[in-house]
Amino acid sequence: DTSPVHRRVEQLAAAGIDVVRVTYPDLIGTERARDVLLDHLPSACDHGLAFCRAVYHTSPQGDTVDVAGGLDAGLPDIRVTPDLGTLTALPWEPGVATCLGDVTDPATGLPAPESPRDLLRSVLDRCAEHGLRPVVGPELEYFLCDEAPDRPQGWRRYSDAGGVVYTAGLRADRDNHLLRTLRLLRDLDIGVSGGNHEYDGSQFEINLTHGDAARAADRAFRFKSAIKELARKEGRLATFMAKPFNDAGGSGFHLHLSCVDAEGANVFADPAAPYGLSATARHALAGVLAHAPALSALANPTVNSYKRIGPDTLAPWLIDWGLDNRSAMVRVPPERGAGSRLELRLGDASANPYLLIAATLAAALLGILAREEPPAPLEGYGYDAARAEPLPATLSAALDALEADTALTETLGKDFTASYLAYKRDEVTRFQRHVTDWEFTEYAYHL
Ligand code: GLU
Ligand code: MG
Ligand code: MG
Repeated sequence: DTSPVHRRVEQLAAAGIDVVRVTYPDLIGTERARDVLLDHLPSACDHGLAFCRAVYHTSPQGDTVDVAGGLDAGLPDIRVTPDLGTLTALPWEPGVATCLGDVTDPATGLPAPESPRDLLRSVLDRCAEHGLRPVVGPELEYFLCDEAPDRPQGWRRYSDAGGVVYTAGLRADRDNHLLRTLRLLRDLDIGVSGGNHEYDGSQFEINLTHGDAARAADRAFRFKSAIKELARKEGRLATFMAKPFNDAGGSGFHLHLSCVDAEGANVFADPAAPYGLSATARHALAGVLAHAPALSALANPTVNSYKRIGPDTLAPWLIDWGLDNRSAMVRVPPERGAGSRLELRLGDASANPYLLIAATLAAALLGILAREEPPAPLEGYGYDAARAEPLPATLSAALDALEADTALTETLGKDFTASYLAYKRDEVTRFQRHVTDWEFTEYAYHL
């Protein structure tokens, strides 16, 4: 048999691969995976792999959370078809290669509405209809923890380096986590360019090279899985939750955004225009500002996300923008020409990369189509609520903003929005009913 899949199987076998791990992002960006023996790969490509559609999450409290069409329908299958264009060997698991998969609903043969990869593709199709090819560069931060059975949560921070350790180098990385990780990720072929220690002890940032938006999302998704997997192999926990500790800042998921034309020229550049930003760039920026409250439902997707956002955090708090200003929600980095771009600092690391990128591009596109102009840029250190509107302060408020933003939800799709809102509203309700440690300490003794 000389079909492309069989040729690929022969190449993989010659490279010593005998298992392919097929993964896909679910609605909230959790990696789902099935390991396929190499001989079975052609059949998996022909028929797809069956996964259960409905259950995204079972919490430690035993609550099963569902999306529309899952539990109600009796837990039917979805099909996941390997995307062999994304195959790459797993550098830390000899004999194993991994690839992403695409999700279809067997009842219709169409992409499942909650499939984040397809959602992003549909937004990119809308951009392409208007001659726009978005370029995205993701920046993800995370905390690393060591096992600590004596602690209530079972983990303590990897580094005890106190104070700000931004770009501290080895003195805050006693076990060379960053060096080892960078070298392993280089061979994973996801476009890792470098990394640094972040502001807080045990917090790291690793950068991925910018590229077309679909690949950038794939890379960011695989990056998060890889970091978590590598940490687990060392008995550690890497967490991308937005704000894991009370005494440290949160973890951001900054997005650098520009657009190129058919010749690959950056259409955000215009030396003669205000701020050196083209009309397209300014409209995109204005769209992101205009849709920010709804965007935060996807960029800041957990109840915990809103504990990262606040004054004096390096995370945004107000809906504003500035020229090379890290206290603003959108920073315009100083480079111009081919490097002209926006840095959206809204997202936190817990965001599903596909949804964050899709929603950001949808907001930018709406701004471009409506030819919106941004207000004047923020001057100076900007956490003064008199100067701009605040972002939603809770997940619940952000979900309300998403539901109310019909232009954005129309671009993202009605089925997706309904599933997402149902899932996330359930999360809010579960949290509201849960008695936290803080409440006991605050109230139990004194009232
Ligand atoms: N950790 C900050 C955040 O939550 C960002 C710090 C930085 O500028 O790299 O967004
Ligand atoms: Mg950073
Ligand atoms: Mg940044």
